[in-house]
Amino acid sequence: MKVDPRRVRSLSSRGPGSGPVLYWMSRDQRVAGNWALLRAQERALERQTPLAVVFTLAPEFMGAPHRAYDFMLKGLAQVEGRLRAAGISFHLLFGPPDKTLLDFAARHKAGAVVTDFDPLRLKRSWKKKIALQLPVLFEEVDAHNIVPAWVASPKQEYGAYTLRPKLHKLLPDFLTDFPALVRHPFPWTKTVEAVNWDVVMDRLQPDKSVAPVRGMDPGESAGAKTLGLFIKNRLSSYADTRNDPLEEGQSDLSPYLHFGQVSAQKVALSVRRHAWDTPSGQTFLEELIVRRELSDNYCLYNPGYDSFDGFPAWAQKSLNAHRQDKRPFLYQRAEFEKAATHDPLWNAAQTEMVKRGKMHGYLRMYWAKKILEWSPTPEEAQSTAIYLNDRYELDGRDPNGYAGIAWSLGGVHDRPWFNRPVIGSIRWMTANGCKSKFDTDGYIRRVKTL
Ligand SMILES: Cc1cc2nc3c(=O)[nH]c(=O)nc-3n(C[C@H](O)[C@H](O)[C@H](O)COP(=O)(O)OP(=O)(O)OC[C@H]3O[C@@H](n4cnc5c(N)ncnc54)[C@H](O)[C@@H]3O)c2cc1C
Repeated sequence: MKVDPRRVRSLSSRGPGSGPVLYWMSRDQRVAGNWALLRAQERALERQTPLAVVFTLAPEFMGAPHRAYDFMLKGLAQVEGRLRAAGISFHLLFGPPDKTLLDFAARHKAGAVVTDFDPLRLKRSWKKKIALQLPVLFEEVDAHNIVPAWVASPKQEYGAYTLRPKLHKLLPDFLTDFPALVRHPFPWTKTVEAVNWDVVMDRLQPDKSVAPVRGMDPGESAGAKTLGLFIKNRLSSYADTRNDPLEEGQSDLSPYLHFGQVSAQKVALSVRRHAWDTPSGQTFLEELIVRRELSDNYCLYNPGYDSFDGFPAWAQKSLNAHRQDKRPFLYQRAEFEKAATHDPLWNAAQTEMVKRGKMHGYLRMYWAKKILEWSPTPEEAQSTAIYLNDRYELDGRDPNGYAGIAWSLGGVHDRPWFNRPVIGSIRWMTANGCKSKFDTDGYIRRVKTL
């Protein structure tokens, strides 16, 4: 089976050369169920050339701290081993990809470069620069979404209600089993030294103040195990328990999905086999497919996805009308970061994120909305929320984060609600509302034991 050509976009008009094919791996850091790797192998087999996977480590990538690099590098070490077993070499480069990848491609006379899709600004700007200079075929494959983002919709969608029918119509075409990656028959011609992973972190020198998380093992195997445990123990009650932080009903897959260590398509196929027609199966697939792909749609088509300008007109107008309102509490970023607000529930949510690297999904909404209420301006609130989310969450620096924050603070994918001081028509959440949903005191007590 071939990779569906609708999943692939040309990033330049140049054709392939005769040299090896490179897969510039970036967002989808796995070997199993990876459409970009499969496409690269397809190209290499057609031309009977070697295939190599290249990963470039850019310095100070979007403020990622030690915690994020630890999770990612341990996953990449597994990728290297799995690729070796499949006859594919792995090369780790240091520096901005628009330099290192081009140098590598030139040095090895690459005949084609295939990469994976990411709607975020930085990755797009690298690809644009590479496309201008790379003398051979340069292709992008959406290996992250089940329905490729550009096929799902050609424009920014208003909300889940407009994207959902489009996705459901296309799912029979795209929610298919993966063909197997074959052992690559054309080996890399030069000897490839194994990466010395022990020295990589020293070379990167990320911010060590955000320590690696214990209790969540990185990599493809751990991701597959997390999925297996979720299906066995929690999937059947997901619809009832996912909004209660004390029930631990969520899948905990977001760090694996964010780093591409697990394929969303593989997750959907496994869930479909076990619980397609149950309320829990349907609720989970709505989050995994519709909500997740809606975030990619938002970041792909809205250049202001992380700014006030990205909010819909009604929300901007409403928030502008309340700029002069007296805030009930006002905090600086440092006070938020230290979980030093007057609100024990908010402080517990912030602490959970700092300690576990993952705040419960229900509390993420409350957490972000209160930052809006307690900041001098919506712009400062958004920037604080993004800073904290990207710094501490293992799944941070993700379209889901920018969309989730824009939903909470700026009405993206939502509608106007009652007009209130400070937050205008943005949907409101309160500690009492949370209390009516779950045992907030029990949650605060539990976070204290972390
Ligand atoms: C303010 C705010 C910030 C957020 N920041 C992030 C972030 O940085 N990274 C991130 O991956 N998610 C983010 N989310 C979305 C959501 O909260 C998390 O994806 C979810 O809590 C992750 O836990 P899980 O994998 O156990 O979720 P599960 O409930 O098990 O869901 C499975 C998967 O479905 C997807 N999903 C679930 N809820 C959402 C949602 N609301 N929007 C989009 N996709 C969803 C995710 O890929 C998730 O891993 C944010 C939401 C809000 C409101």
